[in-house]
Amino acid sequence: MGRRDEQNLDAGGDAHVRRERDAARELRQSRWWKNLIQNAKCHYCGVQLNAKTATMDHILPVSRGGCSTKGNVVASCKACNTAKRDHSFLDP
Ligand SMILES: [Zn+2]
Repeated sequence: MGRRDEQNLDAGGDAHVRRERDAARELRQSRWWKNLIQNAKCHYCGVQLNAKTATMDHILPVSRGGCSTKGNVVASCKACNTAKRDHSFLDP
């Protein structure tokens, strides 16, 4: 009663976020991801990426209940990934 150590977000809460961020870290080590970023283009602006410039971006952000699965992550450049953090592309 009266505990304030859990700041639940609307979508799923902290436990989900922690789990999916861990899953993202693992996915980033996977052969699937490493192959993908060999010759990927940014999902948003289309710039050519390589293993050094590609970042993993969640289509539906983890903080909104998205999961770190192949269907929900795309390669994006750092600029788009950073921009998306401020203005979600999912918002109408
Ligand atoms: Zn981009």
